[in-house]
Parts: sequence; structure tokens; C-alpha cells
Amino acid sequence: MNVVWLKRDLRLADHRPLVEACARGQVLVLYVVEPDWLAQPETDPSHVAFLEQGLAELREGLRRLGGELVIRVGSLPGAFEALHRERPFTALFSHEETGNEVTYARDKRVAHWCRAQGIPWHEFPQTGVVRRLGGRDGWSRRWEERMRAPLLPAPGAVPSVHGPGLDPGPLPDESTLGVARSSKPDAQQGGMRAAEAALDSFLSARGQDYARAMSSPVTAWDGCSRLSVALAHGHLSMRQVVHATEARRRALADDRSAEAGRWRTSLRAFDARLRWHCHFVQKLESEPEIEFRNFNRALDGLREADFREDRFAAWARGETGYPMVDACMRALLQTGWINFRMRAMLVSFASYDLWLHWRRTGLHLARHFLDFEAGIHWSQVQMQSGTTGINTLRIYSPTKQVLDHDPHGTFIRRWVPALARVPEGFLAEPWAMPPLLQRAVGCVIGQDYPTPIVDHKAAVAEARKRLSAFRRTPEAKRESARVMQQHGSRKRPGRRPGMAPRP
Ligand SMILES: Cc1cc2nc3c(=O)[nH]c(=O)nc-3n(C[C@H](O)[C@H](O)[C@H](O)COP(=O)(O)OP(=O)(O)OC[C@H]3O[C@@H](n4cnc5c(N)ncnc54)[C@H](O)[C@@H]3O)c2cc1C
Repeated sequence: MNVVWLKRDLRLADHRPLVEACARGQVLVLYVVEPDWLAQPETDPSHVAFLEQGLAELREGLRRLGGELVIRVGSLPGAFEALHRERPFTALFSHEETGNEVTYARDKRVAHWCRAQGIPWHEFPQTGVVRRLGGRDGWSRRWEERMRAPLLPAPGAVPSVHGPGLDPGPLPDESTLGVARSSKPDAQQGGMRAAEAALDSFLSARGQDYARAMSSPVTAWDGCSRLSVALAHGHLSMRQVVHATEARRRALADDRSAEAGRWRTSLRAFDARLRWHCHFVQKLESEPEIEFRNFNRALDGLREADFREDRFAAWARGETGYPMVDACMRALLQTGWINFRMRAMLVSFASYDLWLHWRRTGLHLARHFLDFEAGIHWSQVQMQSGTTGINTLRIYSPTKQVLDHDPHGTFIRRWVPALARVPEGFLAEPWAMPPLLQRAVGCVIGQDYPTPIVDHKAAVAEARKRLSAFRRTPEAKRESARVMQQHGSRKRPGRRPGMAPRP
């Protein structure tokens, strides 16, 4: 009997472990809800709710193919051990996972257990991330090869061994798992159907102005693909998204209309980001320590001693007194998503204006991002905090972001009701309203809406000074060269991944 161990790959199509296992005989498809995952600070009840939706749909899908999804709650390899006693198995099939320290340690325990039992564990890549990669040269070519390989259709039937006597296990829910209910009523829906619908609607309609729509939180909600959650939970494979994008590009090939031109620009921008996904996860795969430590080790000690709980609490609740920062944080807490530029601004504000170390702020965001993907997340959090040593400093002005990306206050007024009646001209800096006006619009600063927590200009001037003192040392320069060699994109500087144009 072959066990297919599902992790962040809850789908039927383009699933190599499932296909390989089905080709070799009887299959048991297994998902284990691990207490270690539930307990880690990155996990929010909204992640659990999303997982439940994905498992429910997958179970239905497997049953239609004559199979079953067996669900267990327990630590690993203990849950394997118990199952093996019930139904001895001969081989384990799964995708490779680049997760955090907890999943890495668990995979090592599973590998050890499999060796001790004489059970071969067949692992297959599911993205462009390469295990045991020597250096970055040639990485893009390997990404292309993987992504251009044909898609694997869902198996026509799953020769299942669940049969009588083997309890498939109930679908987990918050109450049986002992977690709180999700407090994100507006979160995206889990499952393959929702993921496929998002992919279709993006490539057929929503994505036309992607390149322009992605920066503003007013337009990004519909204008971005919103596929990050599906990719993080594996409802779609990266290859499925790449193939669908390529098909859309081919369909436009002979169309010379202005509309097709906009589509082409958007699809190019989108395609680049699909590569960035794997480029960033590769960093964590190659150097797992970046979850905890600065990429550039010479910057250790930069912020550690200055952590201020009061500042952190205000930022985490969306009460900094800067409308765009607060609106973004509140939108995130309610929905589990915010667009790239605004994520970068939230981190920039925490790391430069408030001088908070990125680990705690990054954990807070990880918990609230429904699409939390450790490799992208920690790389980006560090990049936006100035601790990679290889990226130009990008410090976002929270007031300029209002003028550039929400000039009429559509987004801000929705998420910060206290600012609903503030006139457009004062939305970026409501504290500049004369006291009479503050009273007239029902937004007295310090009473209805917080006084700015810091002075942006002064705070970032101080941050630049501190950071450049660290970055100038010979040790920091040596470290930057090492980071570049190990992780840097081999593209020309202007085309390097992951940075939004001018903050
Ligand atoms: C501080 C910070 C933390 C982030 N944490 C995460 C995270 O935990 N999980 C996550 O998926 N993305 C993360 N991102 C990257 C990016 O913001 C999200 O991928 C994107 O906003 C998701 O929305 P979308 O699917 O509509 O993206 P789209 O703009 O439609 O992009 C399509 C896909 O490309 C990939 N992608 C897009 N932008 C980036 C990027 N800058 N770097 C790497 N891959 C990218 C994602 O897989 C995304 O789903 C983070 C960015 C920042 C600045």
C-alpha cells in the first residue's frame, strides 16, 4: 500500500505524488493536522478555516474517483506509526516542502522514521525551487524546464485501500481542534473550485489592467490575481498557473488591438511575479536561518535592543495615526490580504519609522496573511527592513502613498470610519486640520483618531543614519557580497525581482 501524504498540495490535478502512487497499486491519501502547526505563532484560525474548506472539497473529489481522504490529527511521525500498525504501508509519496523551522524539523523526523522502517519516501518538487542547489547560476533555466513540462491530469481513478475497518476520520473543524473561530469574515474561500475560478476570471477579465491596478489598494483587490492563497495551500500548482498564462498569451498573439496590448503588458508583469515566487522561496530553501537571522549577519544588533511594545501594539492594531498604514492593517486583519505595495509600506513603517525588529512584526503579518508562504515572507520582510545588504533602501512615505494611491480616500474611509468625513485635502495628514474643522467633521485628533505615533521625516532620517553606520563597515560589505553570491538574482540591477517601482 502506498501512502500519499498531502501537505500544502490540496488538489487532484498536476499532482505527481498522487499519479506515481496510483500507478504502483493501492493508495491511501492522507492529511495529518499537526498540533505543532496549530500552535505556531504564524497560524491563525483563518488558516485553519481555509484548510478545512480545502480538505472538504478534496475529500468529495477523491470519493468521486473511488478513493478517500484519510484525515488524522497528531504529531509526526507518530501519526504515521499508528497508521502503519493499522495498515502497513510500503512507500510514502509527497511533494517537497520549503516551510519554516517547524516543518523542516518534522520532515527530518519523518525521513528518519522512514529509514528506520525501511519505507522509501519519494518526494517530488512542486515549484521551481531546487533542493541542494549549489549556486544561483542557471537557476532560471531550471525554473523554465520545470514549468514547461506537461501538466499531469488528475488520475481517472484512485485505487483506494481505505475499505471497511479504516476510519477515514472526520473533517477537522475549529471546535474539535480547539482553536478559536476565524475572525476574518471577508477572507478568501478555500478549495480547488475557488482557485480555478480566480485563475479563470483573472486571465479572462480581471487581469487586463493588472500592471496598473496592482499598486493601489483601491484597484488591487480585483485587479491582482488573488492566487497567492491557492498557491500557498496548493489548490493550484505553480505550473498550472504558468501554463494557463502562457495559453492566454498565445491566444492574444495575433491581436493588434489596444486592449490586447494592455493584456500583453499585464501578462508580462504577472509572469515575472510567478518567477519571483520561486526565486524568493529558494532563498529560504538555501538558507533556512533567514527565518530568524538577518541575511547580512553584520547587521545583527541593529534593532534588537530598541523594541518598543507600545509602538508594536499601535502598529499591529492599525492605530498609528497614519491613515494609510492604519487602513491597510485594519483591512488585513479583516480579510487576510493586502497588495504588495501596501505590505511593503507596512513593513517599512514598522522597521524604519518605528525602528522595530522585523521578526515580531513579520510574525504578526504572517499570522494575518492567509497566503503566508515562509520563503517569500521572510525574504520580503527583510528586504523591506534593509537587512539583506544587497537591496537599495526603499523607505515608503505613508503620506505620499495616500496621494498616489488613494487620493479620494475610497479605501481609507472604508477601513477607518473615524476619517470618513475628513476632506480629501487632509486625508494624508489629518492632524493638520484646524481644530474647528476637526470638530466639524467628527474627527478630533487624539480623541477620535490617534495623534501620529512618530514624526515620519525625523524618524526615517534617524533610521537612515543608524542603518548606514552599520552598512558601511568592511564586515557588512563582505557579508553583502556573500549574500549576493548565494541569493542574488543574476538579472541586471534594474530588472531584479521583488521591488515595487519608486516608493
Ligand atoms: C512584507 C511582504 C510579505 C509578503 N509575504 C507574502 C507571503 O507570505 N505569501 C505570498 O504569497 N506573498 C507574499 N508577499 C508577496 C506579494 O505581496 C503577494 O504574493 C501578493 O500580494 C499576493 O497577491 P496576488 O496573488 O493577487 O498577487 P499577484 O500580484 O497577482 O501575483 C501573482 C503571484 O506572484 C507571486 N508574487 C507576486 N508578487 C510577489 C513578490 N513580490 N514576491 C514573490 N512572489 C510574488 C505570488 O505567488 C502571487 O500569487 C509579500 C510581500 C511583502 C512586501
